[in-house]
Amino acid sequence: MTPERIPIQVIECAKTFPDGTRALLPANLDIEAGEVLALLGPSGCGKTTLLRLIAGLETADAGSRILFASQDVTAQPAEKRGVGMVFQSYALFPQMTVEANIGYGLKIRGVPVAERRKIVGELIDLVRLSGLEKKRAPELSGGQRQRVALARAVAVRPRVLLLDEPLAALDAKLKESLRDELAELLRRLGITAVHVTHDQQEALAIADRLAVMHAGAIVQVGDGESLYRNPAHPFVAQFLGRVNRISRDAAQRDRGVVRIGGHDIECPDHLKPQQDLLIRPEDIQVGQPASDTAHARVLRRTFLGDRVQLQLGTEGQAPIMAELPGNTLFRVGETVGICIDPSRFLAAQEA
Ligand code: ATP
Repeated sequence: MTPERIPIQVIECAKTFPDGTRALLPANLDIEAGEVLALLGPSGCGKTTLLRLIAGLETADAGSRILFASQDVTAQPAEKRGVGMVFQSYALFPQMTVEANIGYGLKIRGVPVAERRKIVGELIDLVRLSGLEKKRAPELSGGQRQRVALARAVAVRPRVLLLDEPLAALDAKLKESLRDELAELLRRLGITAVHVTHDQQEALAIADRLAVMHAGAIVQVGDGESLYRNPAHPFVAQFLGRVNRISRDAAQRDRGVVRIGGHDIECPDHLKPQQDLLIRPEDIQVGQPASDTAHARVLRRTFLGDRVQLQLGTEGQAPIMAELPGNTLFRVGETVGICIDPSRFLAAQEA
């Protein structure tokens, strides 16, 4: 089953609800053919609204345009757009078997039985549900239900697959194994997909690119590593991963440095005007104190198996968090030396 791969263009697309809520400010987004793109952001930022606009389940404000394979679908109803959807709840028919659930859309479209069987059989192999064809939804695990929902959504050969928080209903452990499985399945399907989530790990694991949203706007689009390492906006730095905030007074700004634990660190040129800077916990190197290191005191040590988090008290700064390998021996009360590669600082304020 080779799906048609189409690009999607969202052009100056906005949504204002009748009560005046501006759920989506004019947004532009290019989704490549066959790409898995995640819409990532905190609750209420407008991800579901944008997904529903792409699906045709909401009407966009005047002037908005949505193109599927260069064809304007903005005024088209959902059923004409050729989208498949997978929701958090799966919405499987509980009384139907796995194969009946997967074949349901084909049946209501009047696809002949023989062809239906062939498509359903192929999909059952694809999503690895062989042997479970006759089971009903309540007899399946969360992961199996998710695979049925996915197979059902793609059975009717949609041009685009839309996933709305598909893993949100699962517990943390299951979620982790299923997100890898979902990532692999989407690659095997090769269909253009838009995936809504507020879970950064899920977005990083599943999507080719992420569109980070905040307060009704798309703030930055890119692959996970670029967004994590080179966030164009402080919100992206803070939402994707964790950061410490390092404050600077006017004297430090004048001298072009960042002062931590009695030690000056040269501030990168592009960050010199910034009042505060951000630094990720894994970018703080902790070792024995020396004359060329900042000094800090270990306030708290949290052992997390594969890594250790140290909360460090430093002169002139609020406590900062460092993340080190699990075999780190530094203990509470110990004085340590900290080094920071200045190129790892990020902007805390919008330039
Ligand atoms: P979540 O992760 O909580 O689902 P989200 O990012 O998907 O959030 P949306 O559901 O797109 O957010 O909602 C964006 C904004 O629009 C929110 O402020 C929400 O309250 C508002 N909103 C959503 N639907 C409607 C509606 N039908 N009428 C009025 N406001 C709405």
